[in-house]
Amino acid sequence: MNDMTTPKPASGAAPDASSSTAVPITVAHGDGIGPEIMQASLKILEAAGAQLAIEQIEIGEKVYRAGHSAGIMPEAWDSLRRTGVFYKAPITTPQGGGFKSLNVTVRKTLGQFANVRPCRAYAPFVATKHPVMDVVVVRENEEDLYAGIEHRQSDEVVQCLKLISRPGCEKIARFAFEYAKAHGRQKVTCFTKDNIMKLTDGLFHKVFDEVAADYPQIENEHWIIDIGAAKLADTPEAFDVLVMPNLYGDVLSDVAAQIAGSVGLAPSANIGAQASMFEAIHGSAPRRAGQDLANPSGLLLAGVMMLVHIGQPKAAETVHNAWLKTIEEGIHTYDIFADGVSKQKVGTAAFADAVIARLGAQPESLAPVSYGEAGQGADDGGGQRTSVPAPTRRPPARKELVGIDVFVHWTGSEPDGLAETMRQAEVEACSLEMISNRGVKVWPQGLPETFCTDHWRCRYMAKAGQALDKAAMVQLLQRLTEAGVDWIKTEQLYNFDGEAGYSLGQGQ
Ligand code: NAD
Repeated sequence: MNDMTTPKPASGAAPDASSSTAVPITVAHGDGIGPEIMQASLKILEAAGAQLAIEQIEIGEKVYRAGHSAGIMPEAWDSLRRTGVFYKAPITTPQGGGFKSLNVTVRKTLGQFANVRPCRAYAPFVATKHPVMDVVVVRENEEDLYAGIEHRQSDEVVQCLKLISRPGCEKIARFAFEYAKAHGRQKVTCFTKDNIMKLTDGLFHKVFDEVAADYPQIENEHWIIDIGAAKLADTPEAFDVLVMPNLYGDVLSDVAAQIAGSVGLAPSANIGAQASMFEAIHGSAPRRAGQDLANPSGLLLAGVMMLVHIGQPKAAETVHNAWLKTIEEGIHTYDIFADGVSKQKVGTAAFADAVIARLGAQPESLAPVSYGEAGQGADDGGGQRTSVPAPTRRPPARKELVGIDVFVHWTGSEPDGLAETMRQAEVEACSLEMISNRGVKVWPQGLPETFCTDHWRCRYMAKAGQALDKAAMVQLLQRLTEAGVDWIKTEQLYNFDGEAGYSLGQGQ
């Protein structure tokens, strides 16, 4: 069985903190508050006995400004691939076009398919309306609208492609259940909008159900994302592990972190088979930069997840418990400081020193964490290694071409007129069945109330008993071209093992 989360030997063979062998990791100090919080975090990790051989790389604003559109120097990839472990401070993404998100580039290029964000309350020491909240959001990290495939197709309409794959769904669903199993969690909840997106979110939900059947000891459930999100914001204690497609996970993990207490506290791990990345969820907070004010906790707790990942659970446990003790003693940075609860307001460096002074101590009010010997066992919502088998590839389905959607840029307003032109171009094997505008059927029998843009979908279906092939499609497009129709894209309609692989037009 291929283990999806086993790093390359350099880090996979990592010793515990008791060993003297330092594990190579790649570190980037980032922009804004990044350098301060990274320095503070590394100081704590190393004081706790973490054995790290640090390779430093340059990322972020300076690199973007130097003309590298992804914000990373080309040679930095060598280090990331060599170490397989990236400890990353936040960066500033310059405003304006042409700059690509560094995070999305690193995650996708290195196959970091799972984004794990533990969101836990630290009541009564950090103010929250949800004192018993303890949720882990597992966000799919490679697919969905983050494929970044967008097009302008007419004067009025742009599109973004939402891509969801069966192996992608299987990897993330299995990761969520394996995570739950390894961390003694009871339930995995899936959020999708499959009542509307029946094929894309429908596949995510379907694969979730299939994978869930392999874990009868773990409760599973599915919520439609809108009511699920409302419930999460209102009653987060109803959830345990949450798994969802990329965009929903991006939004809701920030919501979950914020309602737990502060985005400044939440860590995140981006897990892949070869390389993983550990970071805070917040950004570079440029207005706070260079003032020794920022809270290093999110990045520090990401460091704890990293230590577990590279096989140094003892150091991870020591840091985490010292951090919990510091928090419960009321030694707080400005962002979580509250009169009556906090005891001492400190800056970044003093907070780090306070944690270091408590290394070896256990929290008394908050529950201490235990990471066991090899990163398995009792959970704190942290970063135990989770192994996922490679997704199973199915034999190809019987694929049958049954029609084509031709999208047309047309500035007229009467669908009957467009239908007439499109029907005249019909070829022998297929006929115009329907025209829709932004997914609403406008021909035949549309309603005059429907607002129409200049972007029309014209659906041709195979006539009964007629075989459709690509040559017929080409002939149809040729006839449309000759008729002066501005067709802007096509989507072939296939049945897979007799089942429609396309959505039906609204109103059908
Ligand atoms: P932000 O997270 O930097 O800041 C939001 C708010 O939270 C600000 O008020 C800030 O002062 C506060 N804050 C954030 N982290 C804090 C900390 N550790 N301690 C105390 N207060 C903290 O979000 P933003 O202002 O929207 O973005 C700033 C820059 O960061 C942008 O360029 C954005 O693109 C970038 N960004 C980077 C990452 C990343 O590198 N992973 C993530 C998000 C945003």
